[in-house]
Amino acid sequence: MTQSNPFENLQEQLDDAGEYLDVRDDVLRRLKHPERVLETTLSVEMDDGTIETFTAFRSQFNGDRGPYKGGIRYHPGVTRDEVKALSGWMVYKTAVVDIPYGGGKGGIVIDPSDYSEDELERITRAFAKELRPLIGEDKDVPAPDVNTGQREMNWIKDTYEKLENTTAPGVITGKALENGGSEGRVEATGRSTMFAAREVFDYLDRDIEGASVAVQGYGNAGSIAAYLIEDLGANVVAVSDSSGAIYNEDGLDARDVKEYKAESGSVTGYDGATEEMTNEDLLTLDVDLLVPAALENAIDGDLAHDVDADVVVEAANGPLTPDADDVLTERGITVVPDILANAGGVTVSYFEWVQNRQRFQWTEQRVNEELEAVITDAFDAMTDAFEDTGAPNLRTAAYVVAVQRVVDAYEGSGSWP
Ligand code: GLU
Repeated sequence: MTQSNPFENLQEQLDDAGEYLDVRDDVLRRLKHPERVLETTLSVEMDDGTIETFTAFRSQFNGDRGPYKGGIRYHPGVTRDEVKALSGWMVYKTAVVDIPYGGGKGGIVIDPSDYSEDELERITRAFAKELRPLIGEDKDVPAPDVNTGQREMNWIKDTYEKLENTTAPGVITGKALENGGSEGRVEATGRSTMFAAREVFDYLDRDIEGASVAVQGYGNAGSIAAYLIEDLGANVVAVSDSSGAIYNEDGLDARDVKEYKAESGSVTGYDGATEEMTNEDLLTLDVDLLVPAALENAIDGDLAHDVDADVVVEAANGPLTPDADDVLTERGITVVPDILANAGGVTVSYFEWVQNRQRFQWTEQRVNEELEAVITDAFDAMTDAFEDTGAPNLRTAAYVVAVQRVVDAYEGSGSWP
């Protein structure tokens, strides 16, 4: 598989959208680079008394529409360019769903499975201390991403509040319910993926009921998307994680697989599967719907020739390289882009932040209904732009909508300094 730099991919996606927008080149250029990137070295005491160092980043890509917003990931593959790309995707994600945020992203270069819970707490609090001058309810609001969740968000909130001698639950989202979290936040990314799948099948005049589905990646986004899509009557025939893929032509039970993975650590070995296969086999299965829900660059230009799904809905950030996009567009395979399909996470983060600011808790039903309205409105704006501008695919159409909103905010404020 050819290596692809996600930051260059982001810039290419913006150039593609630029062709269908009436935006000056100099204005578009500034939207292709982060405003600032923090790179820091965390020195943290391990359980055995030794000091270990970790490289960590926070990229604040653009704040024209509101506070920087985006998750923090813990992964050995984290790089400065990856974090920059992910922070840029957040700008266009918050814009396409029209919530009042800019985009940011953070990451620590770490495999969290190598560390104890106490070590992870010290590492997280060390990062929170470095982030403190940059973040704040009205400045930059981090959230979970790959390998982080409520536990890490609670530690960051607590560190920030103690150092600032205040309470400011809206400084971070994705917290546990008892610590200022929102109902529905954990499921939100999978839920928007499901809404995106439902909407695109409807748009294409296809039935999601009975559709066959393959899901690559079975973490928070993939597993929840799988069972919610199953609830629409679709048939999840294959799922995978880093251990490999499992398949059953008659359908797996997505909730049961999730429970099995929680107990055993992986999806492989699940006894409801009739076959095990590689991740690549899964990505090239003949299915109605493919949901990549793992990391960037899962499908490159070469592999895209072998993709045999009719529709792709991106639950991961950046799972298709621009080359893959071109190939799928040429082959008539419809892709619902990440910035819309997985935007449920940040949308419910926004609802969490609103609840924190108001010190008022919404019901789960209200969260889910408002999320549905946001995602379906964004889907309609994207398909309208697709039809009105002649953009070649839904990704470019989504960027046309998003970039225009960021440009309008920038131009409305005037350029200073
Ligand atoms: N990490 C998620 C994303 O990539 C959520 C970000 C957030 O809630 O701010 O969209």
